[in-house]
Amino acid sequence: MSTVVLRQLTKTYPTGVTAVDHVDLTVADGEVMVLLGPTGCGKSTVLRLIAGLDPATSGHIEFGGAGVDDVPARDREVAMVFQDYGLYPHLTVAENIAFPLLNHHVEEAERDQRVREVADLLDLSDVLDKRPGRLSGGQRQRVAMARAIVRHPRVFLLDEPLSNLDAAVRESVRNHLADLIHRLDVATIYVTHDQTEAMCLGDRVAVMRQGRIEQIGTPEEIYSDPQCLFVAAFVGSPRMNLLQAAVHIEPGRRAVVDLGAQTLSLPWSNARARALATHHGARVTVGFRPDALVPTGDADGADLHGVVRLVEHRGHDALVHLETGSVPTPHLISQLELPDAHGELAHILGEEPPVAHPLRRRLARIVPQPRRADEPGRYALQPTYSPEAEPAREALGDVTARVPAASAPRVGETVSLRLDVDHLYLFDRAGDRIALPATSVALREAV
Ligand code: ADP
Ligand code: MG
Repeated sequence: MSTVVLRQLTKTYPTGVTAVDHVDLTVADGEVMVLLGPTGCGKSTVLRLIAGLDPATSGHIEFGGAGVDDVPARDREVAMVFQDYGLYPHLTVAENIAFPLLNHHVEEAERDQRVREVADLLDLSDVLDKRPGRLSGGQRQRVAMARAIVRHPRVFLLDEPLSNLDAAVRESVRNHLADLIHRLDVATIYVTHDQTEAMCLGDRVAVMRQGRIEQIGTPEEIYSDPQCLFVAAFVGSPRMNLLQAAVHIEPGRRAVVDLGAQTLSLPWSNARARALATHHGARVTVGFRPDALVPTGDADGADLHGVVRLVEHRGHDALVHLETGSVPTPHLISQLELPDAHGELAHILGEEPPVAHPLRRRLARIVPQPRRADEPGRYALQPTYSPEAEPAREALGDVTARVPAASAPRVGETVSLRLDVDHLYLFDRAGDRIALPATSVALREAV
């Protein structure tokens, strides 16, 4: 058992691709660290470097305080479970599990003993004589796990071990796995692109993008305190609403977040409004989760109004897609798997919507309009349009609210919503979160 430390770990492949870019990471003994990120962000490469299967270009790896940079893979005492298990079809389950012990000079009696132990732990005792071809997907996954842990590794690495399972069994296997890897009590690094797995399995989660770690924290921190736009958009399902906005400060009165056709207004008595003072005139991205929107019957006291475009019934709740006249982050970008250079994402999100960029074609439908001084959107920092006036557009809404199924509105209705200001996130043009003091004052509370 050992703590794993990565220092400025970097891997550039001969093709010129830098798959891992100056990664610093500490995984404590017994801790389960999840590497979460889109396909191609470098997760598997990190594991291969730790296992010693590939040499790092630069940087260092330590186990238990001692450098292992020069230790060959077979001597690192690392166990790795891959996506495709790699079981030997012609060997029985028992032989598959015992296989890693064969070239480690373990006595036969001890070998049988260890196989029985892990088979018991993983509920495989009844299938020890079967061949992998006769097992279910979940059983095969457990055999791969058993084979990995039979050697009592110092470090346990898992690379998307659930991705080959049917959705129907994935949840139960995942919960079983969570229980097992926590009981093993070794430094574990678990790779996935699935945020549900990450949230459920990780003591901490490191969110990766393009070879770098964007944020490390507990699942709770990653979800509720995202430090950048990428993490905010990647973590959470349904996705966080992300809208382009501009900040306008009326000193001593209020801070206005201009969304286009509508504005959010924070009274000056709210510490958050004052904290925004230095951002006067700045273009920002506003984020709030679908849960932060609560329908209200009080249209005048509402923070946002939207026309319902689509209602997605999900059983106990419903996702209501609304048109609010805002400028959303295009869905294509929300997948965040596009190969783009650092900073380009924030650039795309933060810029005014031109028509040229193919990713932003959706934004081109928004036609800037002159505004009258008495209109709510009089700041004219954002282009504006009226959702009611353009009912024929194919858009499915720019904002999503999660509501109880029983109170879901109908398509075409106009809904008034209150927005929980404690759960409002602002990001600057570089995509970094703008720090705002915590407050529990409602947006529209008296000035
Ligand atoms: P992930 O596991 O997050 O999907 P990988 O670590 O497999 O990501 O890959 C990260 C990047 O490195 C990708 O751009 C991928 O194409 C590239 N890559 C991975 N393995 C190799 C390799 N052996 N040679 C060249 N490029 C590679
Ligand atoms: Mg991978």
